[in-house]
Amino acid sequence: MSDTWDAIVIGGGAAGLFCAATAGRRGRRVLVVDHAEKIGRKILISGGGRCNFTNRGATHANYVSANPHFARSALARYRPEDFIALVEKHRIPYHERRHGQLFCDDSAKRIVALLLDECAGAGVEVRTGVRIAGVDHAGGFTVGTSHGPLQADRVVLATGGLSVPTTGATDLGHRLARRFGLRVTPLVPGLVPFTTDPGLGLGDLSGIAVDARLACGRMAFQENLLFTHSGISGPSVLQVSNFWDPGAEVTVDLLPDVDATELLAGARAGGSRAQAATVLAERLPKRLVQQRLTGLPRDPGARPAADLSNADIAALRDALQAWTLVPTGTEGYRKAEVTRGGIDTRDLSSQTMEARTMPGLFAIGEVVDVTGWLGGYNFQWAWASGHAAGMAL
Ligand SMILES: Cc1cc2nc3c(=O)[nH]c(=O)nc-3n(C[C@H](O)[C@H](O)[C@H](O)COP(=O)(O)OP(=O)(O)OC[C@H]3O[C@@H](n4cnc5c(N)ncnc54)[C@H](O)[C@@H]3O)c2cc1C
Repeated sequence: MSDTWDAIVIGGGAAGLFCAATAGRRGRRVLVVDHAEKIGRKILISGGGRCNFTNRGATHANYVSANPHFARSALARYRPEDFIALVEKHRIPYHERRHGQLFCDDSAKRIVALLLDECAGAGVEVRTGVRIAGVDHAGGFTVGTSHGPLQADRVVLATGGLSVPTTGATDLGHRLARRFGLRVTPLVPGLVPFTTDPGLGLGDLSGIAVDARLACGRMAFQENLLFTHSGISGPSVLQVSNFWDPGAEVTVDLLPDVDATELLAGARAGGSRAQAATVLAERLPKRLVQQRLTGLPRDPGARPAADLSNADIAALRDALQAWTLVPTGTEGYRKAEVTRGGIDTRDLSSQTMEARTMPGLFAIGEVVDVTGWLGGYNFQWAWASGHAAGMAL
């Protein structure tokens, strides 16, 4: 069998498999190589094992990149409804959760099977357990592998991000991009829990989850907030982590659907003798209220609601609705869902994902500096960028 191909896709994850299937359907001879023995490990653990495979509302506005417009073209040409149609064609049952997020009813395995079926139907060969030694370019590309050299006119970098190294994540794509003269923006963990100063005493709250509105800079998200033994996590935290840089403040509103000023002023007007902390504990876990009110000057939480001054009410409101904290850091790639940063979009065509200065070299998916919000956006980028490259190969 000849080891010469029209295109070799390095990385058989979401973007790589989808790109290969798209190109295969167009008659290209495509080989996918992956160092993992088992294909799609990150897909299998995604969405808590149910794979949040797209988001109905995905647009370029849901992505972080040095160039916020880069993703626009690919996302416009391969839309969430296109992938939903494919899911339906494969008869995969799915359901919608909050904010337009679509999940498999049973298992993420169905999405891996969909991708492998699409590849098989398009005549794509997928080889696993293949270590990549390097890629050279002299006319065409030669990919050096543990199974011998492979030749192709085109090479697609689809090795994903650095998060959860146990799934087989490596920086090979970033290194190969640099080797061919492409720039790579700084890489940091994204969609990741924060660590906080143990002195804040949040460890005692470990296990408590509340609906909260978190803001960092100009971005704010209202979703679940979970206290952990080392800091804070949950969807609202993961979302703002994509916009956080070390040293930046995060503002937390623990009562996003309640006006604490109104609540306390109402209890005061009603002449309630209940302690202010007790009034607030009707809306929030008691331990959390206590933690937030501990140390406030003049201990307003211990006062009967009827005796609160306006200054007391303002202090109580601020403690719960305008809590600012500076995370000490993040839980890093071990716990991150994605990598922020990647191959610099200035060096890629937004139409085809082809490198501007190295014709024949393409980069797709998470290895590129396009990072989605939490909620199915990262897979939609994998499909859309994979499709754009697959149509151009
Ligand atoms: C815990 C978790 C949950 C997630 N849940 C969701 C979700 O529900 N919805 C969503 O949209 N996104 C989710 N994501 C993010 C999503 O999984 C990724 O953004 C997406 O998989 C990126 O696709 P990709 O093809 O670029 O990379 P990947 O899917 O990671 O594929 C990269 C492939 O390259 C291979 N590779 C890497 N290095 C090498 C090498 N040196 N040699 C050969 N092959 C290599 C890997 O083995 C892998 O198969 C989640 C991520 C994590 C970690």
